[in-house]
Amino acid sequence: MSTTTLITNISTLVTNDPDLGEGPLGQVKDAAVVLEGDRVAWVGRAESAPQADTAYDAQHRAAIPGFVDSHSHLVFAGDRTQEFNARMEGRSYSAGGIRTTVKATRAASDEELERNVVRYLREAARQGTTTFETKSGYGLTTHDEARALRIASRHTDEVTFLGAHIVSPDYADDPAAYVELVTGEMLDACAPYARWVDVFCEKGAFDGDQARAILTAGKAKGLTPRMHANQLSYGPGVQLAVELDAASADHCTHLTQEDVDALAHGNTVATLLPGAEFSTRAEWPDARRLLDAGATVALSTDCNPGSSFTSSMPFCIALAVRDMGMTPDEALWAATAGGARALRRTDVGRLSPGARADLALLDAPSHVHLAYRPGVPLVGEVWQRGERVR
Ligand SMILES: [Zn+2]
Repeated sequence: MSTTTLITNISTLVTNDPDLGEGPLGQVKDAAVVLEGDRVAWVGRAESAPQADTAYDAQHRAAIPGFVDSHSHLVFAGDRTQEFNARMEGRSYSAGGIRTTVKATRAASDEELERNVVRYLREAARQGTTTFETKSGYGLTTHDEARALRIASRHTDEVTFLGAHIVSPDYADDPAAYVELVTGEMLDACAPYARWVDVFCEKGAFDGDQARAILTAGKAKGLTPRMHANQLSYGPGVQLAVELDAASADHCTHLTQEDVDALAHGNTVATLLPGAEFSTRAEWPDARRLLDAGATVALSTDCNPGSSFTSSMPFCIALAVRDMGMTPDEALWAATAGGARALRRTDVGRLSPGARADLALLDAPSHVHLAYRPGVPLVGEVWQRGERVR
């Protein structure tokens, strides 16, 4: 038998299971949770909690499921401070800045890349993230893409092959040959380390036909599609993502009514990445429109050195509430259960019996404070797989 831990005296507990408490978040007041090994064994009112091996006093703070960050780019080297400065002086963002990071990443040692991954993972964990996805996409050669995925796979199961981030500068004159490489030799070398295949479908990156070819080839190798879609302009990405049964269409900033309808009726989550709009001074994605249409919305950081250098899910929640029309409840759901949906996971993003014992205690009486008190480090403690990690 694994040992059991009772966390009691929780002011408000978000379970994300409407059967266990109030509203869509299944909230329980004056709550307790029992962890058994790496799983949740029991949740409910503190007064009816069962005995456990050890008891822990949450000191009347709020508890939420650990954040599920379903979109990040953590295998990189270098820095793009200058580019950020230039943007803030009024220059606009295009997909081309990625080349700067490609150069630095290719030149970095394995150790340097891994140190970076660990550093940003720890940073994210301190802010309550207990599950994260990360991608390749700054190597753009067979060797460098496979290396990035090998490093990422040592730290998470949610690894995404993004050889199609931009056309490699080595193939600037022959994009078709690059697509052939990505769907052939590079995919063969990368598939063993990845669960997902992704493509940046955008002007200046890959068009609809190329994106279809890349995701279809990935599917044939057993990878499930997800896609960077409709970030900088309108385009075919979102509808293609739904058609190919991608787990998620990410960004969704420029959407036609047909795009919204496709997301509302399909099986593809709309993952919104407000850190990108913040850091590029771009128009916000309209979360309200997607939610009102019935689409499933997730929030994620898009943590990367170019267009969104934040690992903070609480920051994304605050932006989504302030500028994208989400309520604090919707934003919390999107950052936990929504992220789990975007990764097609049922064991994380909720705090109900059987779920992974991943939770954060907030130095606040409820999760609403994440948006109400933006920029304040409210994540007081983090438990991952039943162990306190912060
Ligand atoms: Zn991205």
